[in-house]
Amino acid sequence: MPSIDIIVPVFNEQTVVPLFQERIKTAMQDCDVQWRVIFVDDGSSDDSLKAMKRIHDEDNRFGYLSLSRNFGKEYAVTAGLDHTSADAAVVIDVDLQDPPELIPDMVKQWHAGYDVVYATRKARHGESIAKKATASLFYRTINSMSKIEIPKDTGDFRLMSRRAYQAVNKLRERNRFMKGLFAWVGYKQKQIYFEREPRAAGETKWNYSKLWRFALDGITSFSYLPLRFATWIGMFVAIFAFFYGATIIARTIIFGNDVPGYPSLMVVILFLGGIQLTALGIIGEYLGRMFNESKQRPLYLVDKFQPPETHTQ
Ligand code: UDP
Ligand code: MG
Repeated sequence: MPSIDIIVPVFNEQTVVPLFQERIKTAMQDCDVQWRVIFVDDGSSDDSLKAMKRIHDEDNRFGYLSLSRNFGKEYAVTAGLDHTSADAAVVIDVDLQDPPELIPDMVKQWHAGYDVVYATRKARHGESIAKKATASLFYRTINSMSKIEIPKDTGDFRLMSRRAYQAVNKLRERNRFMKGLFAWVGYKQKQIYFEREPRAAGETKWNYSKLWRFALDGITSFSYLPLRFATWIGMFVAIFAFFYGATIIARTIIFGNDVPGYPSLMVVILFLGGIQLTALGIIGEYLGRMFNESKQRPLYLVDKFQPPETHTQ
């Protein structure tokens, strides 16, 4: 029977971990695979790890991997994927916003020959209009800037065949924009739809400043376009300045010079200063990320790995 490992990143989710256990057990009941769950404790400061240990003791299809501190969801998912060798791996949030009931459908598509089956949300329940609008703007921006098509409204919830998740595991960049990495891998991909529910309990770890950083990470790791921005603006300004200069010369020759020009001088100085600072900032964004990569630090550190047992059914 094919085996799948379900990778679940967890950060301070003590209330939902047991709920997740129940939901996944019911959801996987009639699915013809040998499934196991690997919870990745991303340095929780509450009793999440204790809950995982308890669950493992009572049902050894559940294992856990605890990281040395909080590294962030991307790194937790990476750690989980590094610690599986199943025929396929599923990545799912613990807060039940990704319905576990979808996994059997994903398995079906996988059996039908797809390497990656990803779940796209049809509706975003319990999210503000502002969040929906920024999300939509984000997908439009990144897809117009990079060659790799990143599916809209799709999170990390997906099934990947062994060769697909092993390909993701080969991408060791520190700047881990998972949506992009998953898309970069290619292979035969299948989209399925679901309704995203509000969290079962607990609170989201996202806020606007994190989202902004996330968007910058996504764009800078998949597109050089912002760097070219400086070249374009520079060229545009240079062409403009050339014609402006020509008009000034012509005017001086025809009408003479009565020393005007303080306002236009100010405008030009401020305009160019602004553009230079923006361009420097953009270069800085890339440089900082290169600095991070060049340090070659490990992506995460493991505190303890308790693998789930393999079941023979
Ligand atoms: N998560 C994590 N490390 C973090 C933040 C979040 O492992 O630093 C996990 C979290 O426990 C959950 C998933 O990532 O399983 C998604 O987090 P969240 O629900 O906060 O994100 P949202 O659904 O709002 O995008
Ligand atoms: Mg969530």
